[in-house]
Formats: sequence, C-alpha cells, structure tokens
Amino acid sequence: MGLTVLMNAGPWLAVPPPGYGGIENVVATLVPELRRLGVRVVLASVGESTLEVDDLISVFPDGQFAALQRPYNQVMGVAHAHQNAVVRAVRERDDIDLVHDHVEAVGLAVLTAMGPRARPALHTLHWDLGKHPDLYGHVDGGDRVRVNGVSAAQLARAPQALREHAVGHVHLATPLAVDAERRPPGDKADHLVVLGRITPGKGQHLGARLAHEAGFDLVLAGPVGPYRRPEELAAAGPEAGQNPDVRYWREQVAPLVDDVRVRWVGMVAGAARDELVANARASLFPLCWEEPGGTAVIESLALGTPVVAVGRGCLPELIEHGRTGLLADDGDGLADLVADVARLDERECRREAGQRFTPATMARRYVELYEQVRRLPTTS
Ligand code: UDP
Repeated sequence: MGLTVLMNAGPWLAVPPPGYGGIENVVATLVPELRRLGVRVVLASVGESTLEVDDLISVFPDGQFAALQRPYNQVMGVAHAHQNAVVRAVRERDDIDLVHDHVEAVGLAVLTAMGPRARPALHTLHWDLGKHPDLYGHVDGGDRVRVNGVSAAQLARAPQALREHAVGHVHLATPLAVDAERRPPGDKADHLVVLGRITPGKGQHLGARLAHEAGFDLVLAGPVGPYRRPEELAAAGPEAGQNPDVRYWREQVAPLVDDVRVRWVGMVAGAARDELVANARASLFPLCWEEPGGTAVIESLALGTPVVAVGRGCLPELIEHGRTGLLADDGDGLADLVADVARLDERECRREAGQRFTPATMARRYVELYEQVRRLPTTS
C-alpha cells in the first residue's frame, strides 16, 4: 500500500509490555495487522521493545515507567526527550507519511505545534477526558492533526475543542479474539476475577466488599502503582503511600483482602493471565469511572468469560446485557447480577469477540482513518 506510519508508543513501557500496559498493548496488537496489510511501521518506543517493526526510534534503553512516580519536572523531562526524537525523525526523514500518536497530552501538543507543514497525524485518545478535561490544553494550528477515541462514550465526554478534531472512534481489539470460537472452553471455577490496575476508578474496593456481602470468592489481579507482586508492596515503606494507587490499596482494598474470600495475586501476564480469566465464572468490573476503552472487557469475552459490570463509559458499547454480560446502573446493582451470571452462554461471548474485536478489524478501521487524515487539505 506504500504507506509508512510513525507509531509513537511513548517512553514508558516496552512494546509489547511486560504484563500490564494499556497503550503499549494496543500498539502491539495493531502493528502486526497493519504490516500484514502492507503498511510500513516505524515505532517510537524504548530500546528493549521486541515488537517486529520496520524501524525503531528510541531515546531510552528501557521503559521509564518508574519515572512517572517521580516529581513532575522529571516526568516531563522524560516525555520531552522522547517527543523531541519523534519530532526530529519527522523533520529529518522523508519516508514518514503519517504519525499515529498514542502519547497523552505531550504527543498532541507536539503534533499541533509542528504546524501545517508537519506530516498528517492521528492521535488516539486513551483516557477518560471528562475526568481530565485539561489534559490536552488547547488544540490549534494542527490542520492535519486529527484525534480518534476508543469508544463513542469516551469521545462524547471529550472537551469540545478535541471533538472538533475527531474522526470517530475505533474499539480496542485483542489477539485472543482470533479464533476465539475455536478456543477450548475454560475450566470454570466458582470464583470471579477483577483484572486491571488497582486504582479507584476500577473499583476493586467495591468488588471486594461485594464478595464478602454476597459470599463469593474474588481474585484481584493487577499492579498497584509500580508494585507488581504482593511481596514487593509489603516490603515498601510508608512513603510509598505518596502514590495515590498505593494509598487506595492500603486504605480501601487491603483491609478487605483476607486471602480466603478475596485474594490479590499481583500482576499476571501471558498464559497465566488468560487462564485466570478463562477459568473464572465471570469478570467483574465494579467501575467507579467512565471506562474509556476496556481492553480487559473484550479479553474476557474472547476467553469465554461473561462480564458483570457497572455499565459506565464504553461498557454498553462492548457488552450486550443478557447475552455477553450483565450491566448494572451502579455498584449496588451488581450483587443480583452475580447470582444471575450462570445463565449466560460462554460461546456467545467468544462469538462476539471473534466478530467485533479482532486485531484485523481494528487495523482495517485505522487504515481507513489514516487515508481520511491524509486526504485533509492543508489550509496554508
Ligand atoms: N493486564 C495484564 N495483567 C494485569 C492487569 C492488566 O496483563 O495484571 C492487562 C489487561 O489484560 C489489559 C490491560 O492490561 O490488556 C489493561 O487495559 P484496560 O483497557 O483494561 O485498562 P487500562 O489500565 O488501560 O485503563
């Protein structure tokens, strides 16, 4: 197809990420399919990324995730060093046709600041922008810069200035959706699982409380801030509580973890993650925020595990109530649904994932958007 895309995944984690990594997972899922469609991909990431690409641009040898815990100026130092390398590549190389940027805030600011003579660019929004309306400051000067959301709900909540630059939404995808229907059924145990970063928006405290009240077993899986293993977090001193997710864990979740009803297994990755989800009776998403894209939601479908969730954010777009999952209006409504989940057919979940959430579906949609952005006229 003769198209070369500079895919900017940022300096925070390798691609693919070592377990948790929302944005990096999206890039790792999208890129192989784009290349299959004939798109050349130049990846801007960190040196240790192992994703197969046509070229790699990196400033840092390894993921700078830990820098996110440091003071603001150090975070911005890392972000700017990485972004400068992206800008330099766009300026100096003539093989880049389009930038597909995934780096929050700094990414879009840099793209728009490059002005009308910059390459056309598509920036994918990954966060809930209703909650972070100021994340992007203002967007101007970027007459060939466009944004896309990861769900209609997310875009609808974005500030007007961003929505004016929107070309639509593209739902997330998972490699697990390929041949999902042929996947052998999970060995369903009786517990439920909450898979995701342990953070107030994901609502692990609500899930844990519900498990005790309604009497079901719950496994919490995911990192707490920079801590991936329970032993690491147990060994951390009081100062670790400066991280809001560590504080949330210590104050609201840990008191409910008794290792009988409610267990925390830390971050899970690869086959262990898939098995944990595939073997759960349901995936629980006791959301306290407007979930923007919900990768873990579609992974659960692909693994044949129905979803029980608070129907916030993108959940109603991803889950059909009564067929692939059960949605409640709020946390209080979840208890009744947990009891009801056994009537859902796991084959419906896998079928849905195979039809809607494959990497190929996502890549085709992005290629359409790339073409749309490339056709935009420059106004100067
Ligand atoms: N994830 C993982 N191990 C964990 C917790 C999460 O591999 O212990 C993955 C999860 O499978 C999903 C991603 O991290 O692919 C989280 O993406 P999602 O969109 O669900 O949430 P985000 O954290 O981006 O809001």
